[in-house]
Amino acid sequence: MQIETIDLDFMDTGQVIASFLLLGEDGASAALVETGPTNCLHRLTAGLKHHGVSHEDVRQVYLTHVHLDHAGASGHLSEVLTNATFYVHEVGYPHLVDPAKLLKSATRIYGERMEELWGEARPVPEGRIEILKDKDETEAAGGIIVAHDTPGHAYHHLAYLEPDSGALFTGDVAGIRLPGQSYIRPPTPPPEIDVEAWVQSINYIRRIDPASLWPTHFGTFEDVKRHLGELEQRLQDWLLFVEGQVDDGADREEISDQLRAKGDAEMLAEGSDITQSERYSLAGAYSMLTDGLMRYVTRRREKR
Ligand SMILES: [Zn+2]
Repeated sequence: MQIETIDLDFMDTGQVIASFLLLGEDGASAALVETGPTNCLHRLTAGLKHHGVSHEDVRQVYLTHVHLDHAGASGHLSEVLTNATFYVHEVGYPHLVDPAKLLKSATRIYGERMEELWGEARPVPEGRIEILKDKDETEAAGGIIVAHDTPGHAYHHLAYLEPDSGALFTGDVAGIRLPGQSYIRPPTPPPEIDVEAWVQSINYIRRIDPASLWPTHFGTFEDVKRHLGELEQRLQDWLLFVEGQVDDGADREEISDQLRAKGDAEMLAEGSDITQSERYSLAGAYSMLTDGLMRYVTRRREKR
């Protein structure tokens, strides 16, 4: 199986959101991992054309989770890729069939920018969707793809392993890391991040022992051990940091500013420049990450 990265050129910015194209040796069967948002659909279809893949040849579309930057174009795409089955976690399933609730939740985060960022999200017909559970195997592009239940960023998150090459498509569970960068930013949006579950998923990925990580934001990385170590450390560190700020009585805006200052300093220390921070923010803005961490801190306390 051959793996190609299609750059969806999100908000006219390269290498922020990817869709991965899996090609069979026979040249007549293909699959996709992630659809990107509807606003990038023309980029996705151009990518298929570029690789000589007809719409009829795409038989599987694997979704890591239903957030709009990963699966927003699913409804439109189901109309274009008439032979494709859409694979998703069972908790994500109802949101593909009826995106209304998901759109309401996303509007709470993105407000008036919904249209500009994502475009319309249409339903996927029920008969076109299949649910995958942990370790479920499906045949695709002349090989197999194994689903791995990896909650944390979202409760309903799957990572997908291509066992021949050891490529693991990590969605958001392995964080945001852009090409040429070593820095990993943990995407922690509201409403359902779970840092404890996330750390367990990182440990699960260690046990899967992939040869390479393929985050949707963006590309492929082979320093798996270091990558996962840094992600785990930063996730814990940011959680403690935000918790401390909450205890000090800081408000949302102050915490977001503090997290930005901290995160940007960490990036600079790893050799990135400030323009990279803006690109990372297209996949995970500090205000959103702050909201997610603050909500997690509050909910965890309520449970105790
Ligand atoms: Zn994402």
